[in-house]
Amino acid sequence: MAVTVSVPRETAPGERRVALVPDGVRALIKSGVAVRVERGAGAAATYPDDAYESAGAAIVASPLTDAQVIVKVQRPSQAELDAIPSGAVVISLFGAGPESYLVNRNLTALALERVPRITRAQSMDVLSSQATVAGYKSVLVAASESAKLFPMLTTAAGSLVPSKVFVIGAGVAGLQAIATARRLGAVVSAFDVRPAAREQVLSLGATFVASDTVTQSAEAAGGYARAQTDDEQARTLATLAAHVPTVDVVITTAQIPGKPAPRLITTAMVAAMKPGSVIVDLAAETGGNCELTKPGETIEVNGVRIVGATNLPSTVPLHASLMFSKNIVTLLGALIKDGELRLDPQDEITKAMLIAHNGALK
Ligand code: NAD
Repeated sequence: MAVTVSVPRETAPGERRVALVPDGVRALIKSGVAVRVERGAGAAATYPDDAYESAGAAIVASPLTDAQVIVKVQRPSQAELDAIPSGAVVISLFGAGPESYLVNRNLTALALERVPRITRAQSMDVLSSQATVAGYKSVLVAASESAKLFPMLTTAAGSLVPSKVFVIGAGVAGLQAIATARRLGAVVSAFDVRPAAREQVLSLGATFVASDTVTQSAEAAGGYARAQTDDEQARTLATLAAHVPTVDVVITTAQIPGKPAPRLITTAMVAAMKPGSVIVDLAAETGGNCELTKPGETIEVNGVRIVGATNLPSTVPLHASLMFSKNIVTLLGALIKDGELRLDPQDEITKAMLIAHNGALK
């Protein structure tokens, strides 16, 4: 019998995304999979129930009852977990929360943040797709918080010089932020510790700050950065302290997987910035790149607005869900064969993503 994929409505406060959009349903049904969607699951992302129905999904009140495979955006809450039947497979982001709540439950859990950074898995990587959305939106947030316009303008009321935007961390989110800020007409500079990022920054027409602090060894497995040594960190901070007061907007995206975000913007650097400047901290959820960041809040310190950005992808729910859904369909395409879910714990992707297998924590 064909496997059934269930899509619950997200229950985390403020979460507007949905794990599967109607196009995704259509693709799964074509490959012989049945799909059940909770009533209203896509509403906050602008996908109505009738679009899911037209795509072939069954609209249900309780998608977790008898569920076989559940696809979600946010880590299941305890209440959701309690409603998931024994033997089910849960595919979701699980975040940094403890995995112990999966103990003694006969469940299989695949964590989307663990998709390995290999070419075959690139189109399954929700961290990348959602970072793309976050990087774009971070610039719009910065532009709307800034006391200045971004582009150079020559008008009858005088000429305006373009805003200077500095992007720290030129990974997926940072590169998208650079491109977006350039499109808005800002003069953009960027910094990262990985040498590959330097070339990418330059190719987007931004300047690269602090080339001397970039080292070949900064890149760890999978293209991620490793944490800097104390000496490297001191040199980075000295360079940033010189550059930050010269810009109008700082967008920080620096992350080290599994570790707190590196602290790169100190209180003293904020004090040296001009009033009306803005910092958007995309690392707010992992501790913040700026010492003063308050996750989920926008604060003002000496006239500098500091945005502790959390879950920006949810604020662009249509496209964020569309990309998330594409990632899920590609992943399921690799896990489902002949209409049946076949998990091979030795497969490189499955092995990396499994955090619990038939109740046993990995
Ligand atoms: P990330 O979110 O972990 O980090 C964001 C950026 O912060 C990275 O570029 C990192 O180098 C940088 N950073 C870390 N510490 C820093 C510091 N002290 N100062 C300045 N910058 C610092 O990473 P990400 O954006 O998800 O991806 C990083 C790289 O991996 C990119 O090159 C991306 O293209 C690559 N990638 C590959 C795949 C794949 O092959 N499947 C998928 C996704 C990303």
